[in-house]
Amino acid sequence: MPGFELFGEEERNSVNEVLETGVLFRYGFDTARRGIWKAKEFESEFALKVGAKHCLLVSSGTSALSTALAACGVGYGDEVIIPPFTFVATVEAVLSTGAIPVFSEINETLCLDPDKINEKITEKTKAILPVHMCGAMAQISEIKRVADEHNLILIEDACQAVGAHIDGKFAGTWGKAGCFSFDSVKTITCGEGGAVVTDSDEIYVKADAFHDHGHDHIGNDRGKEDHMLLGMNYRISELNAAVGLAQLAKLDEIIDIQRKNFAEIANTLGEFPFVKLRDIPNREGDSCTFISFMLPDEDTARRIASGLSENGVDSCFYWYDNNWHYLRNWHHIRSLKTAMLTAQHKLPSMKDYSEYSLPQSDSIMSRTISMQIKLSWTSEEIAIRCEKIRKTMKELL
Ligand SMILES: *Cc1c(COP(=O)(O)O)cnc(C)c1O
Repeated sequence: MPGFELFGEEERNSVNEVLETGVLFRYGFDTARRGIWKAKEFESEFALKVGAKHCLLVSSGTSALSTALAACGVGYGDEVIIPPFTFVATVEAVLSTGAIPVFSEINETLCLDPDKINEKITEKTKAILPVHMCGAMAQISEIKRVADEHNLILIEDACQAVGAHIDGKFAGTWGKAGCFSFDSVKTITCGEGGAVVTDSDEIYVKADAFHDHGHDHIGNDRGKEDHMLLGMNYRISELNAAVGLAQLAKLDEIIDIQRKNFAEIANTLGEFPFVKLRDIPNREGDSCTFISFMLPDEDTARRIASGLSENGVDSCFYWYDNNWHYLRNWHHIRSLKTAMLTAQHKLPSMKDYSEYSLPQSDSIMSRTISMQIKLSWTSEEIAIRCEKIRKTMKELL
């Protein structure tokens, strides 16, 4: 998953080009910057790469989600359907717009179950926000069908799935807007950064203004620009964009390595019939940042997870107990612990997250283990890892 494993000359040179001009701001300073426009260049290359009409770089994946939701008109009191297995940022972004997160079941894709979304739709539902978790995609065409049937906005959280696709159509390009993260542990990184992609001119123009205090970006004189709407500062800096641009050039190589390493681990896991790999709508399109698999029951999963750790198989995650990615352990969200009173606290339709009932998700998460796929593994290291996996499986069964 982490592009930082492949840092080199390219990132250094790209950053130095920016430092030599002294212009760290992504707008203006046309003469001083001597033709160096890292953010603009990253945007056009990224749009081309994923096949979107527009790309807007922002300061993080979280701000990409907030910006996309705002630009799509999702706001106060609206309900947004999201999965309980994601990163807290998805929930934070929904809350930041004044909207209400509604958790809906996942299936064995580890993403939203398209067949369970209907149960969560009310007259307040405005959007569905599926998350393509751990490098592979949700059943996005089925989810899109539900969104279209109910006239709901589809926004994708593709923060963990850059470069993943279904039959050549990339994650992030299926709905009204797609969001990406380039934070320090993502597939490509620029330190901190993110992107919103969309085919809609209207959503792009609103997102572009929203992420920069509402500036309309018309004309060359920033001081004379008007404000289109109320916004925030979610801008990226040229330094971050410079790193990201160098990383983007390595994306295909990164994914090729991940796919190759994934295949070796998958072969080893395949020797054990009680191990079931996660469902993936299109295996060829998996970006392979993780290999995720299910065991027959919670007890076996717990025993395998601790066995893997005892046998020195690092970078394994048993999400059910993990504080980062599953609703069950997000105590601050379950108790809606905020620094200040938010508008939603006053809404009669606000949800009580202290209790939740997602039996299907609990059952899946309690049986699932994910293993991160590293870029830096040598073939010898992979062979040793596979041996340790075999040993663990045999010991415990
Ligand atoms: C990383 C991540 C985000 C947020 O990205 P940041 O750049 O860290 O703000 C959002 N959603 C998911 C699923 C993520 O993994």
